[in-house]
Amino acid sequence: MSRRTLRANAQKFEFQAEVSRLMDIIINSLYSNKDIFLRELISNASDALDKIRFLSLTDKEVLGEGDNAKLEIQIKLDKEKKILSIRDRGIGMTKEDLIKNLGTIAKSGTSAFVEKMQTSGDLNLIGQFGVGFYSVYLVADYVEVISKHNDDKQYVWESKADGAFAISEDEWNEPLGRGTEIRLHLRDEAQEYLDEYKLKELVKKYSEFINFPIYLWATKE
Ligand code: ADP
Ligand code: MG
Repeated sequence: MSRRTLRANAQKFEFQAEVSRLMDIIINSLYSNKDIFLRELISNASDALDKIRFLSLTDKEVLGEGDNAKLEIQIKLDKEKKILSIRDRGIGMTKEDLIKNLGTIAKSGTSAFVEKMQTSGDLNLIGQFGVGFYSVYLVADYVEVISKHNDDKQYVWESKADGAFAISEDEWNEPLGRGTEIRLHLRDEAQEYLDEYKLKELVKKYSEFINFPIYLWATKE
């Protein structure tokens, strides 16, 4: 069984009000082009890889050794657990980054986008308003973000988009070394994203301007 409830001992946070409204709209949206969540995740992974690569120009040490130094994106389908995950070896997020970037500080475009959504219902421009991450709730009802930044320990951020998120020091997953893994526990209506042929097409479509290799694999049924 895959996990569907927040960890009991985690530290709990409330989403900033506008962010919470945005998430409500997304999770209840009838918007049909749900594919865009993958574009947003690939774009965030690529941004994170750009950041660590930039730092490495002046300090090679930041990359580490072995697999850690491989600037790549991995997408995995776990058909049994109904989880789609995307992992990068980018800069990662400290605990403070997770709290700020994924929930407590609204970007300037947030309320503008909420307004636009209410009139047009068109989610496609979400990335341009600086809130693309939340599009994961088009296809998932529970999301975990596991992240490791060079300056901090590994943490798990998790939320069911019900106004709150939780953060805990990660004592359950393999060490990432560095970077971020986003795990989408897919909704019943979004099981099509476990189909590797569909995913392959989407990755092809959204990776056109991405400068890092993207690998896709599925675990056996
Ligand atoms: P934007 O990418 O426009 O800033 P998003 O809503 O897509 O907005 O992401 C919000 C923030 O969360 C990013 O600015 C970044 O700081 C952080 N973030 C999201 N995904 C990742 C990731 N894979 N690695 C590191 N940081 C990330
Ligand atoms: Mg983004």
